[in-house]
Amino acid sequence: MRNVIIIGSGCAGNTAAIYTARANLKPLVVIGHEPGGQLSITTLVENFPGFPEGIDGPVLVENMKKQAEVFGAEYVYGTVDQADLSKRPFRISIEGEWHESRTVIIASGASARWLGLPNEQKLIGRGVSSCATCDGAFYRDRKVMVVGGGDSAMEEANFLTRFASEVTLVHRREHFRASKIMLERARANAKIKFLPSTLVDDVYDISKNEVTGVRLKHAGNGKMWDQEVDGFFVAIGHIPNTKPFKGQIDLDHDGYIVSHGGARTNIKGVFHAGDVQDRSYRQAITAAGAGCMAAIEAERFLEAEGH
Ligand SMILES: Cc1cc2nc3c(=O)[nH]c(=O)nc-3n(C[C@H](O)[C@H](O)[C@H](O)COP(=O)(O)OP(=O)(O)OC[C@H]3O[C@@H](n4cnc5c(N)ncnc54)[C@H](O)[C@@H]3O)c2cc1C
Repeated sequence: MRNVIIIGSGCAGNTAAIYTARANLKPLVVIGHEPGGQLSITTLVENFPGFPEGIDGPVLVENMKKQAEVFGAEYVYGTVDQADLSKRPFRISIEGEWHESRTVIIASGASARWLGLPNEQKLIGRGVSSCATCDGAFYRDRKVMVVGGGDSAMEEANFLTRFASEVTLVHRREHFRASKIMLERARANAKIKFLPSTLVDDVYDISKNEVTGVRLKHAGNGKMWDQEVDGFFVAIGHIPNTKPFKGQIDLDHDGYIVSHGGARTNIKGVFHAGDVQDRSYRQAITAAGAGCMAAIEAERFLEAEGH
């Protein structure tokens, strides 16, 4: 019987692990399909406090894991495929093997949706990004492209005009589904060039290990052409990793966990941390802060129950 099972090994899960391990709760952390979470696929992180020169994302999360292990956190490879949260102790299946725990911290993140282009994954962190807040500052006086037609694409495009000399907003349809106010704000921004009815065929150049341009295709007549860009931002949404908890944990219409205050879910003893609940900030530091909150809530819950 565990005191705490933490689902996810990103900033939120690792921070929850540091706190619960230091509280002597011997947490079990389930690593999941992406060891280290989203930061493990990026390069330089310049906005995590404490690193004036910046720090590589994979190094930052690995350091968090090591810090948790120093205090006795245990990490297990595998993915949670089922959960029984209907009664205590809670039961968590890691690829078919069931584990019992008094509390559970869900820190399974929200994965960015990608376009599925042949070169896209190879250039993540080298010009391809899903986060303007994270990477926008690398594109001062440079040309970037944003793909998407919703509010987040408008927000990313507007934000990027603070740095970039030109932002091209590409959308596969003629009409944008963004709210009127967000669309008007983007249209009023002289640095944003709209390119509707356009598909992205691929992003280049893997031989140079950086983004130099894209190949575009008109959705109507199929005509293809190249455009030079230095940055390529995909803003077509995120998928919260909440499938194993569906029907038990309150989720919103997109699958994000609905918070019941602090780090609490609708089930007493089950807590949320990080991007799996946060559709608004989605940053390493906010995820880490949320991991801390969930850990403290779990500690207090266990103490109140006499453990
Ligand atoms: C390319 C890129 C660059 C970024 N750059 C920055 C930056 O510079 N600065 C910044 O502050 N933020 C940045 N971010 C955002 C930041 O990475 C996220 O906000 C942060 O990682 C969220 O942490 P998290 O722990 O909530 O979730 P994640 O990092 O997404 O971690 C989720 C974890 O849950 C695990 N998991 C998922 N499902 C299951 C399951 N069923 N069972 C077990 N485990 C599961 C995964 O394996 C993973 O370990 C970037 C994101 C991306 C994609």
